[in-house]
Amino acid sequence: LLGGVGHNPKSAAERQNQKDKADRATHEQVLDNRTRETLQKLVNRGYFEVIAGCISTGKEANVYLAHPGTDTPSEPFPYPAAVAVKIYRTSILNFRARQKYIEGEHRFAGGYSSSKNARKLVRLWAEKELRNLRRLVQGGVRAPIVIEQRSNVLVMEFLGRDGVASPRLRDADLSNSKLARLYGELLVTMRRMYHSCQLVHADLSDYNVLYHDSHVYIIDVGQSVEHDHPRAFDFLRTDIRNVEEFFSKRSGGEVRTLGLRRAWSF
Ligand code: ATP
Ligand code: MN
Repeated sequence: LLGGVGHNPKSAAERQNQKDKADRATHEQVLDNRTRETLQKLVNRGYFEVIAGCISTGKEANVYLAHPGTDTPSEPFPYPAAVAVKIYRTSILNFRARQKYIEGEHRFAGGYSSSKNARKLVRLWAEKELRNLRRLVQGGVRAPIVIEQRSNVLVMEFLGRDGVASPRLRDADLSNSKLARLYGELLVTMRRMYHSCQLVHADLSDYNVLYHDSHVYIIDVGQSVEHDHPRAFDFLRTDIRNVEEFFSKRSGGEVRTLGLRRAWSF
């Protein structure tokens, strides 16, 4: 995907050079000067020392693996051995897609009404993900422990092992019996998210669930809404459908999904 666009590189060296250029371009898009300053402040405060690699580049955000130094903050305790640094893009392009989540969300009331200030909206988005992640962990839902958010940068616990990120549910290699167990676990997780955390994920799918430590972990909750959001049930219905479809398809029909109504009221 990176490199090789409209040009057929001849040598491996040339190909690598082109890929490097494209990678740099991708990172520079996210890493504007203000973001660099934000990262520097986080480094100065000991949240992490070096960025060791890129876990994901997406439309909304890039996620990096970073290692803390020896002088880490006192909280959380114990401080994670590795952290994930999520950097939200500050470009205006994706804001329309976010609007439907923000309208009718009382936590945004008065705080923001239009996308006149892109940077401010991205900061609010990152803040919202921080608060939602906190609520998940406090409500007993498996999710990364959130550490700090500053401007468009969020620092959280890295879910992985030896520098390798745990796979998304869609990328995990799982037997049907494991799939059946995880289907049940995810339904319980959704209910707990609703009843204990009073949140609806609103973008739940095999893309936003990680398979970590033999369990499902919820990520990417910037768009999640309060359970009394006017569209909460629309989002919930879609979330349940996505989950049901994934487990049914992935298991070749062997995992008998419950159907929308029973999945929510078992
Ligand atoms: P985009 O929509 O632009 O792809 P996103 O908003 O979907 O970005 P996330 O879903 O939060 O961003 O993260 C992107 C990817 O980064 C995830 O699919 C996951 O593979 C990885 N990731 C995110 N958080 C963590 C974490 N705490 N530990 C390990 N990997 C993570
Ligand atoms: Mn995602």
